[in-house]
Amino acid sequence: MKYFGAHVSAAGGVENAPRNARAIGATAFALFTKNQRQWSAPALTAEQVAAFRAACDECGYAPAQILPHDSYLINLGHPDDEALEKSRRAFEEEMARCEALGLDRLNFHPGSHLRQIVPEESLDRIAASINRALDRTHGVTAVIENTAGQGSNLGFSFRHLAYLIERVEDKSRVGVCIDTCHAFAAGYDLSTRAGCEATFRELDEVVGMKYLRGMHLNDAMKGVGSRVDRHAPLGEGMLGLECFRYIAEDSRFDGIPLILETPDESRWPEEIALLKSFAEGR
Ligand SMILES: [Zn+2]
Ligand SMILES: [Zn+2]
Repeated sequence: MKYFGAHVSAAGGVENAPRNARAIGATAFALFTKNQRQWSAPALTAEQVAAFRAACDECGYAPAQILPHDSYLINLGHPDDEALEKSRRAFEEEMARCEALGLDRLNFHPGSHLRQIVPEESLDRIAASINRALDRTHGVTAVIENTAGQGSNLGFSFRHLAYLIERVEDKSRVGVCIDTCHAFAAGYDLSTRAGCEATFRELDEVVGMKYLRGMHLNDAMKGVGSRVDRHAPLGEGMLGLECFRYIAEDSRFDGIPLILETPDESRWPEEIALLKSFAEGR
């Protein structure tokens, strides 16, 4: 079963996200469980949790169809100890929110070295951050997203993802989310079927497909290897549609949330319908 959706709004309360997803014909969705531009949020009340769970039931979304994303402020590889501690606390709060909501995974960007420490040292900090968060929470998998490699962001190479997983103690609660735009910007050419074959073969060899817990389906404004993180509507960027057809047809991408983060929300219903048609044609 293929689960296609988009990163929908949770404005007015987390329980609105599943309804927003249903309204666009989605069988999966992503959300922020709090304002992503703020460090902290009041703990979820029992009423909010119950409302979210009821809305998910009503709209037919199980945890395997939901991919929450953490705040963009968090940097789990921060070179400064105090700033790192602030990020770790915020991340653990995000993990706890997912746990409270009955969700089983949290998608996050690994972190940045800010050119103050070497990449390996920052990666070691990220791995330690993940281990601490897993120790302090239960049942939620930390899902590391690959990045475009813009600025000093780590996680643009599959080797970075493998490096982190190697250092995570509880391997049953670590996974990866591959963003097609980020991969393309980082130099993985997903614009052709052969390029898709090669990229996902490499992902399997370096990381292991068993760690794949979600995908972000975005076309890319800039060329392969640009290191620029600019998403485009499906078929309107440098990636083209072949990559999305490939993912829709390939059973290795079944059973996980496949999430659009494309810029024009008004087009999500048609983009989801297109993806569904690719999957039905397989
Ligand atoms: Zn992301
Ligand atoms: Zn993404």
